[in-house]
Amino acid sequence: EQTSDATRVPEGSRKADFPGLAGNWAYLDTAATAQKPQVVIDAIARAYGADYATVHRGVYERSATMTMRYEAARETVARFIHAASPGEVVFVRGATEGINLVAQSWGQRLVAGDRVLLSALEHHSNIVPWQMLRDRTGIEIDVAPLTDDGRIDEDALEALLTPRTKLVAIAHVSNVLGGVADVARIARAAHAVGALLLVDGCQAAARLTIDVQAMGADFYVFSGHKLYGPTGIGVLWGRADLLDTMPPVQGGGAMIETVTFAATTYASPPQRFEAGTPAIAEVIGLAAAIDYVESIGLDAIHAHETALVAAARAALGRINSVTLFGPQDSAGILSFAIRGVHPHDIGTILDESGVAIRAGHHCAQPLMAVLGVPATARASFGIYNDLDDVARLAAGIERVTRIFGAVTADI
Ligand code: PMP
Repeated sequence: EQTSDATRVPEGSRKADFPGLAGNWAYLDTAATAQKPQVVIDAIARAYGADYATVHRGVYERSATMTMRYEAARETVARFIHAASPGEVVFVRGATEGINLVAQSWGQRLVAGDRVLLSALEHHSNIVPWQMLRDRTGIEIDVAPLTDDGRIDEDALEALLTPRTKLVAIAHVSNVLGGVADVARIARAAHAVGALLLVDGCQAAARLTIDVQAMGADFYVFSGHKLYGPTGIGVLWGRADLLDTMPPVQGGGAMIETVTFAATTYASPPQRFEAGTPAIAEVIGLAAAIDYVESIGLDAIHAHETALVAAARAALGRINSVTLFGPQDSAGILSFAIRGVHPHDIGTILDESGVAIRAGHHCAQPLMAVLGVPATARASFGIYNDLDDVARLAAGIERVTRIFGAVTADI
């Protein structure tokens, strides 16, 4: 049988780099969180072990060295996303905290009647902070609809822009459907009405080359744990001139210039937004993850995952009663349903065959309403997956349809 270009997967499995993948299971839940390569685990262990000390405060050599590594990690992140300078990189707990920070800090300048434009496919973390801001200030939230194949409808989004629109906040890659937004086009349209663009890059950062300047974003957020790095660490990137004008939202150590009981002055960004002792080892682990990902190359990763999704679409598409959601060229993520079978049952039966997928609303309940389903089953791919994982997924799905076909016949 001939293998088409669409299903050809680059040679060489990387499973051996990932201790979490031992035990012959097909891990297809990377969109929830990625497994960690040994180099990342080693970097974290070293940071907590032989290298451990605090940052920014110590006068002793160990602390100075740790501070250097911590700030070198900021440079790694800046290079990775093509930021103009490391000072634009704020370390936060994750994408969720990054979006909340923008809503709570930059959001203070919004007044009743100002508008924030989201899309129908957003993760709850890019919906709820704006609703909380709405409750505090009386802003309005607009929602751009989707195309039939589950992408943000950019024409419709542009039609919703008004002079009162102050911010457009959208996912670069949908965590449910995998569609890639045309962020450069959306940035141009937002800027034309004087609005800013916040991009939720949680799924994109591990799948696409990110150039925050080329895309014209104003804020970009992502989480370390979806990028083969640690939990508890993420990035808020913001344009320097914007961060400069933003008030802090947490007060404490490390974010100040001088403190008296009469008045306190704040440090410049990024320190202004990093109150307290930071997640030192996690920052260093994140830099190790970025080094690992860059050693493979984002273009190679994207090609690899696109090929796996194409193979999965082809294999599942042949199975009667399977519905596939999302665009044909989705980036590493494939949501699907089986007629008459709840996604949780699909997940449970697949688990019996050693195939781990996610079943649920994926923190995107408004999108489930658009799709007209309470939940989907979702297979998501990473740099360690291969065609064997796709074959196991397809075999598992066939088993699900047999089991439920049999149940139906028995009734
Ligand atoms: N946005 C998207 C698109 C996501 O996929 C996720 C994680 N599922 C988040 C935001 C939130 O990320 P975290 O939970 O790491 O803060």
